[in-house]
Amino acid sequence: MTRNAIIRPQVSRREFLKLGGQLSAALALGGLPSLLHGAARQIPNLPSDPFTLGVASGDPAADSIVLWTRLAGDVLAQAGLERDVLDLRWELAADPDFRQVLRTGGIAASPALGHSSHAEVRGLEPDRVYYYRWHAGNATSPVGRTKTAPAAFADNREFNFAFASCQQYEHGFYTAYQHMAEEELDLIVHLGDYIYERSWGENLVRAHEGPEIIDLEDYRARYTTYKSDTDLRAAHASAPWVVTWDDHEVDNNYAANTAEDDQTPEQLLMRRAAAYQAFYEFMPIRLPVGRQGPDMPIHRRLRFGKLMEMTVLDTRQYRSDQACGDGRKTSCAEHQDPSRTLLGHAQRDWLYSSLATADATWNVLAQQIMMASLRSIGDNGEELWPMDIWDGYHYERQDLLNHMQDVQTPNPVVLTGDIHSNWAADLKLDFDDPSSATVGSEFVGTSITSGGDGQDMTQYGADLLSNNPHVKFYNAQRGYVRATLTPDLWRSDYKVLPSITTPGAAISVRKTFITEAGNPGVQEI
Ligand code: FE
Ligand code: CA
Repeated sequence: MTRNAIIRPQVSRREFLKLGGQLSAALALGGLPSLLHGAARQIPNLPSDPFTLGVASGDPAADSIVLWTRLAGDVLAQAGLERDVLDLRWELAADPDFRQVLRTGGIAASPALGHSSHAEVRGLEPDRVYYYRWHAGNATSPVGRTKTAPAAFADNREFNFAFASCQQYEHGFYTAYQHMAEEELDLIVHLGDYIYERSWGENLVRAHEGPEIIDLEDYRARYTTYKSDTDLRAAHASAPWVVTWDDHEVDNNYAANTAEDDQTPEQLLMRRAAAYQAFYEFMPIRLPVGRQGPDMPIHRRLRFGKLMEMTVLDTRQYRSDQACGDGRKTSCAEHQDPSRTLLGHAQRDWLYSSLATADATWNVLAQQIMMASLRSIGDNGEELWPMDIWDGYHYERQDLLNHMQDVQTPNPVVLTGDIHSNWAADLKLDFDDPSSATVGSEFVGTSITSGGDGQDMTQYGADLLSNNPHVKFYNAQRGYVRATLTPDLWRSDYKVLPSITTPGAAISVRKTFITEAGNPGVQEI
């Protein structure tokens, strides 16, 4: 899409490297709260509630969880505390009323990380619900519910989670999160586009705080706007989250150091450093190991007993630029270059070894973009490839599917966001041959709000269904997917809302697809 150029001053390489060093120092500072703890200032009584950004927890392991909050910058400024490292306290309890407090602790909230706090609490029991809250001066945060993962080799019989993506704040209300919060799930997975860097569309029901975001203060303000939503905060407080990012956490359709518009690679990397830092500051994730300036590895693996292993991928930070000018295009020489990558070599090698040793019943790839082919036929009979998704990186996709088949990864399931619509698809060994082996299942979840109210069927969806026999379902309403896993069956309930431009709509299951363990592919029930 075309739009006005973003004009920002050129930054020299020296200044850029200096900024990278500052970011690393800031992240290192945040990662070593114990060293700072003695130097942190006690928080006095505050003029108003500093917990307006809510609470969250994430990255559950069998023995630990990340507890998150962030003190509101405006409240700290009113109290003259905005430059201080502050001593923030947390409590973990067995019950939501905190009659049985199990653990307490302190963490230094540093201005270098916007007074965000990520307490990595260890020594917990597996597969157990806990409640937590924070204290700052005379203020106490809302209570969060969280849950540790089952032990790695526990013979767990059921796991319930939901996955969500794409929540453009201006396009609608977060009614889906209100319903998700009520489910009290084992886990909520976010597949990216948690924020949007700019406005688009016409029927906007609420407004961003400003125009397109570029620097750290901009990204912080944008996350603050999104976190002002009560339903989003309720969903965070209801269950632990696992999050990854897609493009809009930085810039629409960026690829590694290539911006959508005419920013230079250096400008985009400056922007990426700011965007990634803000992502860390606002998300309940563990401190990414290996972060350095604009580089922040977030791919990781989580284990939920014998039932599920979840590999979280990043298909933006390391990818080759979209081929043939991006968009839906006929193939070109660039597209046929087998060295093109979505994952980057380090992440791909790590993924391949995970898949080769995978021994859970369900082996999930939590990622961003549609893996099953969505090719279409143009007006003159030409084949068109969507260049931003796996179709644009078809050699790497083929290699990945071949690998899963060769190493016999048990029950691969790919989870996807990005395209603001629901889909269910078989992952074929050869997408040009409907009789080829089915390697796994793909469940694509629609957006929370992006794209407005949407509709059940569109011409776009109908055309793609008829061109791609491996794709079994399409729906373009808003909502989320609830997944129920047992040792025998994966069940995906596609939950949709009739409207998100008006608040408070009831949610219903539009369609359910299953995968039987040992029988790859999706089945409608
Ligand atoms: Fe999106
Ligand atoms: Ca996207």
